[in-house]
Amino acid sequence: MQSRIVCPTCGESEELTGSPSPDGIRIRCGRCDAEWLRDGVSQTCATCGGSDLETRSRALTQYSRGTQLSIVGLSEILLCRVCDHDMIEWSKAGRPVPHTYRSAALDGEAGRERGDSGTRGGAVRIEP
Ligand SMILES: [Zn+2]
Ligand SMILES: [Zn+2]
Repeated sequence: MQSRIVCPTCGESEELTGSPSPDGIRIRCGRCDAEWLRDGVSQTCATCGGSDLETRSRALTQYSRGTQLSIVGLSEILLCRVCDHDMIEWSKAGRPVPHTYRSAALDGEAGRERGDSGTRGGAVRIEP
């Protein structure tokens, strides 16, 4: 669900333009010229630049004696709904993201290595 964007300075919600910047989608108000980041820092995917991200639980695992892998705790990891699609599906089934998993949302190199999945869907949208 997309939340409605409103200018924090004057309350304008129509005359807003978005443009990508290294920090995320930058919104500019056509009425009072205010500029701000839509999603704050690090809320865009490092691989596709999209902002369709979600936070999932990630397992902190440890090899106890032998080959037994045990989960010793959970942390959070940011995933891209486009580039990390398969892992999001995996975690929706109630399984924590393996701690060895490299999030394409955080690590552009991991996303590129994964190859084709980054081009799927065309989910990058910049709304006027
Ligand atoms: Zn404004
Ligand atoms: Zn992505």
